[in-house]
Amino acid sequence: MKLVIRHARVIDGRGRARERATLVIQEDRITAVGDERTVPLLRGAVEIDARGKTVLPGLIDCHVHLCLGGDADVIRTIREEDPALTLLKAARFARATLEAGFTTVRDVGFRDHSIFALRQAIAAGILPGPRILAAGLAICQTGGHARFIGREADGPVEIVQAVREQVAAGAEVIKFIASGGVLTPGTSPEHAQLSPEELAAGVAEARRAGRRVAAHAHGAEGMKNAIQAGVHSIEHATLMDDEAAALMRKHGVFMVPTLSALAATADCGLTCGVPETVVSKAQTMRARHEASFKKAHRTGIPIAMGTDAGTPFNHHGANAQELERMVALGMSPMEAIVAATAAAARLLGIDQLVGTIEADKLADLVIVDGNPLTRISLLQDRGKIAGVMKAGRFVSGPLKNEHMANG
Ligand SMILES: [Zn+2]
Repeated sequence: MKLVIRHARVIDGRGRARERATLVIQEDRITAVGDERTVPLLRGAVEIDARGKTVLPGLIDCHVHLCLGGDADVIRTIREEDPALTLLKAARFARATLEAGFTTVRDVGFRDHSIFALRQAIAAGILPGPRILAAGLAICQTGGHARFIGREADGPVEIVQAVREQVAAGAEVIKFIASGGVLTPGTSPEHAQLSPEELAAGVAEARRAGRRVAAHAHGAEGMKNAIQAGVHSIEHATLMDDEAAALMRKHGVFMVPTLSALAATADCGLTCGVPETVVSKAQTMRARHEASFKKAHRTGIPIAMGTDAGTPFNHHGANAQELERMVALGMSPMEAIVAATAAAARLLGIDQLVGTIEADKLADLVIVDGNPLTRISLLQDRGKIAGVMKAGRFVSGPLKNEHMANG
């Protein structure tokens, strides 16, 4: 199939926008992008007039949990729910995520290894959904945060074994829990979890297997342990101190802020069924989290967009709310888009394939009515999404119906 999109505003994912651009897609790839005169004529191509529309790279969420449904007490749900039902619900959440313009997600903790079956079903075209990179089970210490979606392991030997289990099951990324958390009762976000020795052994094993490593860390000590061990990203980075910030800059470690997680829990208050300990943790941490995000942005720590979708009231399909939150805390709309495209692809190690609009990249695109550079929140408006394309096929939006023959 050959497709030419004309008269579009194209945001390339690297921080540049081009007006009245022409974009050529053949099979699953972008083959040319430029202006009318420089892009060669293409015989037999389907033409789309994208006047008034903006084309962006398919959005990437670096932190989701497809096994969690955004309900008030997700731990209780997981405990009571049949794993098969969890997987069916995850398939529905994956579809909602794709339809919202997210063509790639990184799942950083599922209740079991069935996430790899979902990934496979989507890759094979059996189910609609984003490209998934998954961690399998998060690796935590006995009694640690996130153990309801985790593999508890203690001591370097068992940690290495836990890494090998995830790799053997098909994990592209390994997730460690390096501090307490908000959702798990009896753990404090301030306290470090897993010892420096355990983290070092686990990260070395993951790197030996060529895998990227993400570490959950709220408190500064947990962050530093994880950075020293060699992780690629710190998830949340809530209570970042100057030393942790300097280490992140020095080692090029990404912050994946997940502002939506704390904000959604803190905003909902005590009336919506979230356990009281969880709400009070979220409320006290929120201001410090926002200060950490601003500091990271101001001082040049690389930031990749992630939502923690699936946590209470942080719903799959509402992922683009994170961009508005980042803009509210000082990013320009263009910077927020870069964090959700090229920067995210770089963190995930898939920047050769996706994350930018340029020749030879996979044609993962979102086409929206209007200009998100003047109003970032329009990315959350489903009525404004004209089309979502994954690897050269329209998978959602009115443009899908108009161009079914090509999809
Ligand atoms: Zn998470």
